[in-house]
Amino acid sequence: MPETQCQRCGQDYPGRAIQPETCPNCSGRTLHFSFGTSAYRSDDHSRELMHALKYRRQLHLAETFGRLMGCLWDDPRLSSRSHWVIVPVPLHPKRMRERRFNQAAELAKAFARTAPDTIAVSLEPKLICRTDFRERQAQLERADRLENVKNSFQLTRRGARFTLPAGAGILLLDDVMTTGATLSESAKVLRPITKKANLAAISALRG
Ligand SMILES: [Zn+2]
Repeated sequence: MPETQCQRCGQDYPGRAIQPETCPNCSGRTLHFSFGTSAYRSDDHSRELMHALKYRRQLHLAETFGRLMGCLWDDPRLSSRSHWVIVPVPLHPKRMRERRFNQAAELAKAFARTAPDTIAVSLEPKLICRTDFRERQAQLERADRLENVKNSFQLTRRGARFTLPAGAGILLLDDVMTTGATLSESAKVLRPITKKANLAAISALRG
């Protein structure tokens, strides 16, 4: 059966229908971003490289993945806007102390450099913070993933004072998107800053 890419969450699923209502990943739940999309589908090799970045401090891979994410600018939903504020999904401070870097923030830096000249890009890594220290999403089943990240984020003081430039959108960025639950929860806490139509989610890999 041919595969369709969901226009809402970006996941591929079998079938011809284009209606987002038919996507098994996002039907029956609310996603707090207007659309989500990923640069590449993950496979054993890309997963291994991402693990090397996150768990073995191979930081140069952030540059590689971030640059590869540059293909996302081909998507008219991204390229039609003249200004994006990029918000990497934050780590919990405890995880940050263990790892000493946030892979999403590193990817965001490299990705921002790939933006076409016609698009203004600014990085805002401190608008939201992670408040709950929970199990890693990767080790959980789907239903548990959705529950696991609920209310895990909040606006920082900087976020609460932040004014989105006129016409700008917020691009939430993570290394891997699977169900979209983490990115959706991140988007939810940004709603006081802007409406859902201005919130989008991207990742390097689709889990
Ligand atoms: Zn979907």
